[in-house]
Amino acid sequence: MKLKANYVVTMNKSYEIIENGEIIFDKEIIEIGTNLPKCEKEIDLGENSVIMPALINSHTHLEFSSNKTLLEYGDFIIWLNSVIKHRETLFVECKTECFKKAIDEMKKSGICAFGEISSTGDDLKYLKHSPLKVAYFNEIIGTAPGAVDMLYQDFLVRLSESQALEGKNFKTGISIHSPYSVHPVLMDKVIEIAKKKNLPIQAHFMESKAERRWLDEGEGEFKLFFEKHFKNAKPFIKPIEFLEKFKNTKTTFVHCVYANDKELSKIKEIKADIAHCPVSNRLLNVGLLDLERVKNFSIDYSVATDGLSSNYSLNLFKEIRAALLMHIELHPKYLAKDLLKAVTINAAKELGFNNGSLEPGKDADMVTFKLPSKVTQKELLPLQIILHTNEVDHLFINGKLIK
Ligand SMILES: [Zn+2]
Repeated sequence: MKLKANYVVTMNKSYEIIENGEIIFDKEIIEIGTNLPKCEKEIDLGENSVIMPALINSHTHLEFSSNKTLLEYGDFIIWLNSVIKHRETLFVECKTECFKKAIDEMKKSGICAFGEISSTGDDLKYLKHSPLKVAYFNEIIGTAPGAVDMLYQDFLVRLSESQALEGKNFKTGISIHSPYSVHPVLMDKVIEIAKKKNLPIQAHFMESKAERRWLDEGEGEFKLFFEKHFKNAKPFIKPIEFLEKFKNTKTTFVHCVYANDKELSKIKEIKADIAHCPVSNRLLNVGLLDLERVKNFSIDYSVATDGLSSNYSLNLFKEIRAALLMHIELHPKYLAKDLLKAVTINAAKELGFNNGSLEPGKDADMVTFKLPSKVTQKELLPLQIILHTNEVDHLFINGKLIK
């Protein structure tokens, strides 16, 4: 099949945008360019049309999708306590319809794949039939030394259940909740598995000032938080030792708002990525990741919505538009280019899918939509796309029309 559009945004290494471009594909992309050979089925998408790689939401928690107004925003620790208080209710309320709605919202906004952090494994029965590609990160969380064996056994069961579904559209990975919430013995055990099986890892890191203070000094709001549950609570690990554990793995650190230069340098050294969730960070009032610093360290980053536990939407176009408006330190024209990269090629690398750019041999995962009028400056196309797109007209996954 062949599609033709005013603009084909390839997201290839040279960020090539082909005017009046064409793309021939079946399950994979076969050819891309201009004046390509004739095909039996051809569609010209018309005036002001765009074809680009489908978007990828690298980090979500769909098990929290029933949250709308229940959780308390504005302060990280208050939010965390509200999550703990309402977690069970939210999980029970999120069944088939709730997962379907969450996936539908992502589908409408042109998302072909997402990274799901699963803390219980209960979401697997809903996600195994997902029309979108899933990278399923089995999460480990827990600090009580007496519970390490039980938590590890539970993790192994969840991992093997999800690995049974492993295939082109379903990838498995592991998630270490954070440096403050996982016992180091557990960290080591699951990282070992990830290394052996070559699985991608995600870990929340330096999301709040409270986390910074707790890990550096063993003081602050987290001290009070942990003392409710454990006597003489102390942080288990220094942030840099935590990062060091992920050497020789394929890891994405989520948030990193309070990561310092030494830690960013370590993240670069171990070739890890960062997932940036600006709306979530804003709602929990933790501040804004310094993207300029991240760029200075040449660290690749994705942008993700996080779960509906800390966002009002799973629409990635809305998320990158928010990012565009929040990062006033960066020029909108260049930031827009980076943001499109963040939700396509960079996210594909983090989740391990063969998509994220329009190049021969890549999966034909792409979207089409129309801009409201002509773009006079091609250089500004990424910016105009982010400003004017909420939903896509078509979403193709493995060459099949999904929307
Ligand atoms: Zn998260």
